[in-house]
Amino acid sequence: MNVLLLGSGGREHALAWKLAQSPQIGAFFALPGNPGIAQFATCFANVPLEDHDAIVTLCLAEKIDLVVVGPEAPLVDGIADRLVAEGIPVFGPRRVAAQLEGSKLFTKELCKAHNIPTAAFGRFIDAEPAKDFVQRHGAPIVLKADGLMAGKGVIVAMTLEEALAGVDEVFAMGGAGTEILIEEYLAGEEVSFFCLVDGETVLPFGSAQDHKRAFDGDEGPNTGGMGAYSPAPVFTAEMERRTLHEIVKPTARALADAASPYRGVLFAGLMITAHGPKLIEYNVRFGDPECQVLLMRMEGDLLPLLAAVATGRLEDQPVALKPDAAICVVMATKGYPGAYPKGSRIGGLEAAETVPGVKVFHAGTRQDSDDILANGGRVLNVTAVGANVAEARERAYDAVARIDWPEGFCRHDIAWRALDD
Ligand code: ATP
Repeated sequence: MNVLLLGSGGREHALAWKLAQSPQIGAFFALPGNPGIAQFATCFANVPLEDHDAIVTLCLAEKIDLVVVGPEAPLVDGIADRLVAEGIPVFGPRRVAAQLEGSKLFTKELCKAHNIPTAAFGRFIDAEPAKDFVQRHGAPIVLKADGLMAGKGVIVAMTLEEALAGVDEVFAMGGAGTEILIEEYLAGEEVSFFCLVDGETVLPFGSAQDHKRAFDGDEGPNTGGMGAYSPAPVFTAEMERRTLHEIVKPTARALADAASPYRGVLFAGLMITAHGPKLIEYNVRFGDPECQVLLMRMEGDLLPLLAAVATGRLEDQPVALKPDAAICVVMATKGYPGAYPKGSRIGGLEAAETVPGVKVFHAGTRQDSDDILANGGRVLNVTAVGANVAEARERAYDAVARIDWPEGFCRHDIAWRALDD
């Protein structure tokens, strides 16, 4: 099977690593790719993901049998619609279904219409009625701009003053014509749960928890994610059963019934509350770095599963995950998520991978002759499996210590929650 992988982060390096192990893989391409992905696939580094014409031309020229889409932006932009129209199977939903991530309002209305547990909400186009609503409901309360905001469109206001000031901020974040959501605050522990969905069949693909804040102790600014671990201890078999039954399956059903079947991985961001799981948000792709820990735990062949999702032929057999734990420590350039320099040299990558159970995925690197250079904020994903979280964590930090990169930093407490429980 000839495969084209879209994306350039650690998530896509992990996908490339796993797909390349498939006995069914034929020619393997990535666009734009990165130096880690280039170990497995021919990269078209100069074609931007926005260039749908170029992607289609490439697929036809290279007789691509499956396109695997890593990030959400091309899906929300309709790359799956373009490829399907050309008869090219694609792992990733079409534009209408991708609104599950692209529009918070779309998801909230779908939940409301199908009784899917989520925070109660109101929607507003003007600040004054929004402030009245905040006054009536009090704090804590959550304010959200609609649309893809890269994690920056949400204010969790713990006081009434913060909430009232937040209304203006959230309108400003969204720009002209924004609609905002005001939500009930949900207390509990957050979990990410992943399912493969081929339109009809829903297969669980494991749970994970991530760390969004930049520094130890969940301090500092929000980031794209500084680490993750899987499985999430709080997500028991009973929570998984309820989430499938109450949240994910009704969502897939609703989209299929509306003639916009969801095909891809559905990432449910959940709050495990005293009343059970509630949906915070959907994402229409694997999480990054959650994908890295899930794939380290996965047994068997990923490629036929993704192809079955793309063609609507998923069999109702569970995805086999090792009982082992996996953790991923993100190494970022000092300064991230603020301004940071590019181009520092990274050493010790081979030494890091000599630690048993460790893979180092490239997230933001660049190759310069024999050197690997930092080329982004989040740069490396040091990922390890072990018999339990403690062993996986020891291995990951042993590998981190072997990486020679003075310009980088990481958190030292990834998976603390799983160890404290
Ligand atoms: P991200 O890209 O970081 O996932 P996003 O912009 O898609 O963010 P949400 O996931 O909806 O936005 O919210 C971001 C974070 O705000 C959540 O991960 C959660 O910690 C918090 N949050 C969102 N909604 C609620 C809620 N109703 N109650 C409590 N916390 C919430």
